[in-house]
Amino acid sequence: MDIAHDPITADDIPSPAQPPLIKREDYTPYAWRVPETALDFALGLDQTQVTATLKLERNPAGEASDEIRLNGDGLTADRVAVDGANITDWRMDGPDLVIPLSGKAHTVEIATTINPRTNTALMGLYASNGMLCTQCEAEGFRRITFFPDRPDVLSTYRVRMSGPKDQFPILLCNGNNTESGEGEDGTHWAEWHDPWPKPSYLFALVAGDLVANSASFTTASGREVECNIWVRAEDLQRTGHALESLHRSMKWDEEVFGREYDLDLYNVVAVSDFNMGAMENKGLNVFNTKYVLADPDTATDADFDAIEGVIGHEYFHNWSGNRITCRDWFQLSLKEGFTVLRDQLFSQDMRGEAVKRIEDVRILRAAQFPEDAGPLAHPIRPDSYREISNFYTATVYNKGAEVIRMMRSMTGAERFRAGTDLYFDRHDGEAATCEDFVQAIEAGADLDLEQFRLWYQQAGTPKVSVSQQVDGDILRLTLTQTVPATPGQPDKQPMPIPLRVAVHSRTTDSLGAEQLIVLDQATQVFELPLAGPDPVVSINRGYTAPVIVERSLDNADLVFLAAHDDDPFARYEAMQELAVGHLVAAASAELDGAALAEGQSALVDAMRSVVTDVALDDSMRGELMLLPSETYLFEAMASGDRKADPGAINTAREALRTAIGQALATELNALHVRAQKVDFDDPDGRGARKIKTQALAYIAMSDRAKAAAMAAHQFDHADNMTDRQGALMVLCGLDCPERGERLTAFYDRYKTNDLVVDKWFTLQALSSHPDVIAQAKQLAEHPDFTISNPNRVRSLYMAFAGNPSAFHAESGEGYRMIADVILALDPINPQTAARFVSALGRWRRIEPKRAALMKAELERISNAKNLSRDTFEQVSRSLEG
Ligand SMILES: [Zn+2]
Repeated sequence: MDIAHDPITADDIPSPAQPPLIKREDYTPYAWRVPETALDFALGLDQTQVTATLKLERNPAGEASDEIRLNGDGLTADRVAVDGANITDWRMDGPDLVIPLSGKAHTVEIATTINPRTNTALMGLYASNGMLCTQCEAEGFRRITFFPDRPDVLSTYRVRMSGPKDQFPILLCNGNNTESGEGEDGTHWAEWHDPWPKPSYLFALVAGDLVANSASFTTASGREVECNIWVRAEDLQRTGHALESLHRSMKWDEEVFGREYDLDLYNVVAVSDFNMGAMENKGLNVFNTKYVLADPDTATDADFDAIEGVIGHEYFHNWSGNRITCRDWFQLSLKEGFTVLRDQLFSQDMRGEAVKRIEDVRILRAAQFPEDAGPLAHPIRPDSYREISNFYTATVYNKGAEVIRMMRSMTGAERFRAGTDLYFDRHDGEAATCEDFVQAIEAGADLDLEQFRLWYQQAGTPKVSVSQQVDGDILRLTLTQTVPATPGQPDKQPMPIPLRVAVHSRTTDSLGAEQLIVLDQATQVFELPLAGPDPVVSINRGYTAPVIVERSLDNADLVFLAAHDDDPFARYEAMQELAVGHLVAAASAELDGAALAEGQSALVDAMRSVVTDVALDDSMRGELMLLPSETYLFEAMASGDRKADPGAINTAREALRTAIGQALATELNALHVRAQKVDFDDPDGRGARKIKTQALAYIAMSDRAKAAAMAAHQFDHADNMTDRQGALMVLCGLDCPERGERLTAFYDRYKTNDLVVDKWFTLQALSSHPDVIAQAKQLAEHPDFTISNPNRVRSLYMAFAGNPSAFHAESGEGYRMIADVILALDPINPQTAARFVSALGRWRRIEPKRAALMKAELERISNAKNLSRDTFEQVSRSLEG
């Protein structure tokens, strides 16, 4: 039988115009429990037969009913049996299977047949590079078999899988391998048992020709865990970092959160066709190859960091996600916000707090702030959705992590640990809610979170405005908070905002002691001791709260903070404030035909002290040298009294970079020369590689020919990907012969390595080259480009959508390209297609001419026939606002 494994189309859902809205308040427990599930898979790439046997018991908490509803998606039942007898009086209700069932306990058996090869949506069971693998979160399991596919139905799984041995020599599933053997006609089989009850979204199966890098880990209580990183044979030598990162994560979670691993086996499989970064399936993580494979020749320092972070993230889910899961998908932040915080703290401990904190805040500002200010704004615990895939957002993940981090900032690490211990104790083995988590932290960490719960309910990034007044030896700090209106939430209440503050003195150069204040009213006055005359307030140190601080400090004060503050984040923040203030003013001045805004010379001076400060660590220097992104500047400009003008922002930012490049030519050159001399393995090597490319990028703004020669030299002599990619990135923005030559050399060297070819696409799509649009169009015609691989699609089009000068081209061509890719991708992979919509969705914050072009593209998408539920929801919300 051929199952329609085309992605969901409007035909599959009740009303073609409006998929149903699912609301948090409508939650009801499922009518049945499924204590045991047995699955039998007869595997084949074109046809896999699945027999599911569910042991069912009435759930006393569920509603009484004389039938059972099992979710499906594009499935047909080949056979249905109840208590061993085939039945025929089952019915389909839309995609779901409904079976008449009364009484207290039954065994239901269902046979289905699926076609993994035609599953291009990459949800459920699908084929990738000749192997079979699964992705079930959030609702992929219902594409494998009929099941109560909801996170609050927990079951233990026994799985038998069989298939041709030459094609699938390795057969993996969740839990422990209990038995395996040979079958007839060259087949073999394996049986797996996972003793831990889990929801269906954590189910995983992998079958293919794989090899493992293995090493055992001994847990704190002495359990030996066999850890395997499974990849294709040719990738084996690039798995060492992932395996080491896994061991470090296991040890860290024991030490910092008291969490130990609970199976004898931990498998990680790398898959090249994957919608997300990785998936925490119990005992069998499935990873995008991008977050597993690395060696210095093919991966940058940033790639190494990302692998460590994602390996940690999925491992930490074993407790925050698997042992305690979510009651329903509205609680997604319960597992994701908390686990993102855990992986951030882990990476901070592995490689230094200051730089990691800055990186995390940069991501929050680039990805989450625009979301919070746009038509897709939603609280970290949403109230409703049409397609849950659309809520795997920076808000649920990154802002979710910030919200829990605030709890930790208010209690300190030790009390917070007491809170998380209580949470794990209370809810182990359960499907819990965000409210359960908050209550456990309240009780365990002894913290009143009554008003703090608003952070779970209210969308929008709060703004805190600051004014100050000196009174004798006291500084009166007046703080006012506003939470902006967001779709469906016109009025907001004040939230508790924890802020670490210190009052420095500029003239005496003395630094004040730090203290934590909590702003929990609309306006509040705090009295702080002065450290001396000319007080300068350092506020939101360490970025304790995910808010926008609005204040008007003199440039001299900001330069002082940038050079002297003892909190590294505050130094970074002062540089950012200086740059944002100047660039937004400069963009406005250009639009008004006014003279150039002030502040450029202060910025150049501050940058000079950053470039030349011998006491500064190079990794930190690299952060301080980065100007705010154009996307962040749009938000800053749009929060003033005019709309964001991408053209004017780009002009202002390029002018500032040119001014820095010219004024600091000598210093930047010296920095590059010094960094070139540091060996790869030197402890300072990472920092040196970071500033090398930063310096080159500035030099390219003032002396293109010189920068081209330097970049070509760096490229030719590089012994690692960080230097090679950095040099090529600089060359990509230049119109010079070195550009084409090195791009060809890079491609020729790495053309068999998909992940590096992805970089080759990205570097060109991200470049500031004047012909970038034409180049991106050509890349789409390149033989290596394919729309069916999500990594490749993102490498070209996500990069392009994130390149402001290309995406916001005045002609509207950039918008058209992204709309075209959404329409082309939607029938193949709706989840990935829908992720491109938010770029166009920001039209209301952009100046009218471009806004009209963006809106027209959204309307063109919304008029297309048979849009997926994923894309439909994002486009309609973007147009409604
Ligand atoms: Zn996660």
